[in-house]
Amino acid sequence: MFDTLSHQIKDSEKIVFVTGAGISKESGIPTFRDKDGLWRKYDPMQLATIDAFYKNPSLVWEWYQERLANVLTAKPNPGHLAIAELERHKEVIVLTQNIDGLHQRAGSKIVLELHGSLVRIKCTVCNFIDQFSIPFEILPPKCRCGNILRPDVVWFGEKLPHLVWGEAMSHAINCDLMIIVGTSLEVSPANTLPLYAKQNGAVLIEINPEKTRMSSSMDLSINETSAKALPRLISLIQK
Ligand code: NAD
Repeated sequence: MFDTLSHQIKDSEKIVFVTGAGISKESGIPTFRDKDGLWRKYDPMQLATIDAFYKNPSLVWEWYQERLANVLTAKPNPGHLAIAELERHKEVIVLTQNIDGLHQRAGSKIVLELHGSLVRIKCTVCNFIDQFSIPFEILPPKCRCGNILRPDVVWFGEKLPHLVWGEAMSHAINCDLMIIVGTSLEVSPANTLPLYAKQNGAVLIEINPEKTRMSSSMDLSINETSAKALPRLISLIQK
């Protein structure tokens, strides 16, 4: 299949990656929905909604601090690194649902974080926003204005950051190759990005060991893990 598409793929000028939790699995960060994913152990409605947060902010903070500790010890894997390497040869944009910062740590320059970042906090009331990497001892942490701080992530039922989403759609519409990696494509509106790309003539390639709801719309599906498949695919694109 790659052979049939090889010219279109190699001639692509603008390549957009849409990534999800699966790309970071081989860095030791669990996904949400697959076999040993986080939602098999925890109830998203108790941890990842604004209602859950106001009901028990300390519990939600404990969970995020645990995830932060895991992310800070994790390292980018060959999948993240291969994407960063491709930037030396092509225009590459990464649209990620991940909040772990591993694309940036791998060296990717243009990374749009659709669901926010685990290493940022913001006030629930005022405009305060900051980086954070050292766990808070007293939970929930408070802003200087006296209100509670929260992780700067997008919870279920919340809107994506307006500007980031607008830019992401524009990149999806204007790319000629979209590579969709490690996402179940269950979460909206991120899962509409491949549709925008396809409607505008882009080639779609999916990398995921499992089939997804959109596998049949892909021009090429590679059913392997991203740390294995991405370095190989990217070396073919660069040839
Ligand atoms: P998801 O858990 O719904 O799906 C993960 C997908 O990755 C599955 O389709 C699975 O088959 C695939 N996968 C598993 N191992 C893989 C591997 N080694 N290589 C490639 N693919 C692999 O995750 P999603 O689609 O990203 O769901 C979106 C939500 O998950 C977002 O809200 C995001 O913020 C959140 N999330 C992020 C992280 C992170 O930042 N690393 C971790 C967990 C969840």
